[in-house]
Amino acid sequence: MGLKKLIDLIETSNYITALTGAGISTLSGIPDFRGKHNPIWDKYPQDKLFNPVYFNEQPRMFFDFLRDVLEKEYQPNIAHFFLKFLETKKKLKAIITQNIDGLHKLSGSKNVYELHGSIYSSHCLKCGKSYTYDIFVKKLFKEKVVSCECSGVIKPDIVFFGEMLPQEDLNMAIFNATRSDLMIVIGTSLVVQPAAFMPMYTLNNGGKVVLVNKGETYIDDRAALKFEDIEKVFTELSEYYEVGKQ
Ligand code: ZN
Repeated sequence: MGLKKLIDLIETSNYITALTGAGISTLSGIPDFRGKHNPIWDKYPQDKLFNPVYFNEQPRMFFDFLRDVLEKEYQPNIAHFFLKFLETKKKLKAIITQNIDGLHKLSGSKNVYELHGSIYSSHCLKCGKSYTYDIFVKKLFKEKVVSCECSGVIKPDIVFFGEMLPQEDLNMAIFNATRSDLMIVIGTSLVVQPAAFMPMYTLNNGGKVVLVNKGETYIDDRAALKFEDIEKVFTELSEYYEVGKQ
């Protein structure tokens, strides 16, 4: 029932944007750190983990945390790949994400705006030299504190508490959200700003919003459609569009 309506919306829309949060990455096995009883999360004091002041004083804890998380390798899932498919079809114009895992880019999507940055690039806090993800991860499992040849600490390009968001990503997110005739919100409960406000740019400019999220959001009553199960929705959409079978 609902799926047919979603397909109709996709078919009749020409400027689709996706807004994604932690829920899309849990399908890839990445722990949702907002979820309760996460064994990795519980090991670390949350107020110190993404804290720039603490990081400058004692960077080791953050790298211990990253080693715990990155022990496994994560791959994009059916939802990431469906969004990439919609981009290839020129239906989807942008992905706005709160996720720092880089899985949208890894799935092949091009127009990805990462509001909280990404671990896929990093740079030296002293000399500014940038590092690719591959080199960073190799160093991560060799060095207690990942350091540059200049002895400076290398920090992934993710936004810590109180730090500025990447301005260009934010501007492009608003630009695209405002122009969207359809925004598909996936796996976020819309509580963290500025991502939480993105659907309002779409709604206030006459676009529609579809929610794919467990749990309530503040715009449930303004959404054209609401689904709970990300895996089910994107499995069915991928079957309908025969994604991966061309
Ligand atoms: Zn350096």
